[in-house]
Amino acid sequence: MAQNTLIVSNWKMNLNLINSRKLISKLKILKIPKNIKNIVCPQYLLIPHISDLIKSSQIILGAQDCHFEEKGAFTGDSSILLIKEYGCKYVIIGHSERRQYHNEDNSEIKKKIKISIKNNIIPIVCVGESFLHRQNKSYLNFIYKQLDECIPKKMKQLVIAYEPIWAIGSGLTPTFDDITEVKESCKNFLNKTKKINDVKFLYGGSVNSRNFFEIKDKCKVDGALIGGASLLEKEITNVLKGDF
Ligand code: PEP
Repeated sequence: MAQNTLIVSNWKMNLNLINSRKLISKLKILKIPKNIKNIVCPQYLLIPHISDLIKSSQIILGAQDCHFEEKGAFTGDSSILLIKEYGCKYVIIGHSERRQYHNEDNSEIKKKIKISIKNNIIPIVCVGESFLHRQNKSYLNFIYKQLDECIPKKMKQLVIAYEPIWAIGSGLTPTFDDITEVKESCKNFLNKTKKINDVKFLYGGSVNSRNFFEIKDKCKVDGALIGGASLLEKEITNVLKGDF
């Protein structure tokens, strides 16, 4: 049986009601193989709308973040319980933009991962180094620290998204060897230190319909986390329709 490939659209803080409906209507009529999981992560206020629109389609709903508590006095935050009520199956956790603009640290990210597992929502955990870490060759140690401090032991259904910060939205991507090195290193590290064998490994950072298939083929990743290109109908449909 062909392995599942996860194509995760991270819409970030983009698209309004009309444009999101238009894009979803195109994604809904796409014929894609059963082993391709088309996961769409809209901003919170769009989730009820998209949840309605994707009923009886192959599209899977995800969220871009969640709070680490289920409820309480956390003005402006959103609960995993509502994410679950609206049918989300995945949640992106620890995106570098959350780390940078909301000062999320590894211990907070670990709590978010725990609350998502408790609620049967699969966390897509983002890790990745800055350009400086890449340049001074400390990138693996930086990523190991993220994994060590964020990931609970013996987790099931873990999805790691390797997103070098310098590759996000920049048009730059690491070499195939670089992606493969990080993938193998993360898997070994998680196996040794956390007793986790079942890991899906995604690549994210300037993925588009021109580079995705080569990355998938050469690096043997389980899919991609796609930002900018996921907003463009042609780009994302070409990725989803592609030759897997
Ligand atoms: C992201 O931020 O998750 C991302 C992958 O962005 P982009 O594809 O635009 O680089």
